Amino acid sequence: TNALEIKGLRKVYKGGFEALKGIDLTVKEGDFYALLGPNGAGKSTTIGVISSLVNKTEGQVSVFGYDLDTQLADLKRQIGLVPQEFNFNQFETVRQIVVNQAGYYGVPRKLAHQRSEKYLKQLGLWDKRDQPARALSGGMKRRLMIARALLHEPKLLILDEPTAGVDIELRRSMWDYLTQINKEGITIILTTHYLEEAETLCRNIGIIDAGRIVENTSIKKLLTQL
Ligand code: ADP
Ligand code: ADP
Repeated sequence: TNALEIKGLRKVYKGGFEALKGIDLTVKEGDFYALLGPNGAGKSTTIGVISSLVNKTEGQVSVFGYDLDTQLADLKRQIGLVPQEFNFNQFETVRQIVVNQAGYYGVPRKLAHQRSEKYLKQLGLWDKRDQPARALSGGMKRRLMIARALLHEPKLLILDEPTAGVDIELRRSMWDYLTQINKEGITIILTTHYLEEAETLCRNIGIIDAGRIVENTSIKKLLTQL
């Protein structure tokens, strides 16, 4: 099975703006896939539809074989989402934010605590576990969202511009971390507007522009074309 299959996806926002104009996209299990494109191309909209935060207008989406329209609960369990904006409660502690995610996925409390320790340690946030999230730096907040997204151990991790506004040193360590968990078997899709990020991390790439996929290829092939 494929990690993601999208066929003929269209999104028309209220007011009539057509953000996605018929997108076809397949991401294989185990892949590290970049959706690359300029601001306004439709990357966040695409991710929003896959993770069921944005209603689609037309088309089919399935994740590990689960259909968005008919098997939504199963589909959601496959996905860990790291959104672009910090959407956690800034007054909760780092550990609370991660552990509370368990409630959405039926992860037992004890297991949630074990996993939060594991992921917070891996992401260098364990020392901050009892701090309110607002006390963290921007890069730490981004890593916190990664830990939260991994709590239910999804098979597909989706990150929307994960290193936007992150300094180069931290960016490298985030890249290393994502590469490592991809090697351990998790499929990753990220959006970016840096070719360098796609080039460093990803195996395959879709280039999106003005709501259309204009290229869908491997990084290797893309680089020999440039
Ligand atoms: P990207 O993530 O590639 O920057 P987006 O998916 O955020 O692009 O946006 C694609 C287009 O859809 C943009 O022109 C944006 O202004 C528009 N758009 C995004 N969200 C909405 C919305 N809620 N209502 C109307 N238009 C929107
Ligand atoms: P509040 O809005 O008071 O902060 P919520 O219970 O709405 O509390 O959300 C808590 C956190 O969990 C937020 O960061 C939110 O983005 C995230 N969240 C909310 N609903 C879901 C969901 N269905 N699946 C995954 N994460 C969610």
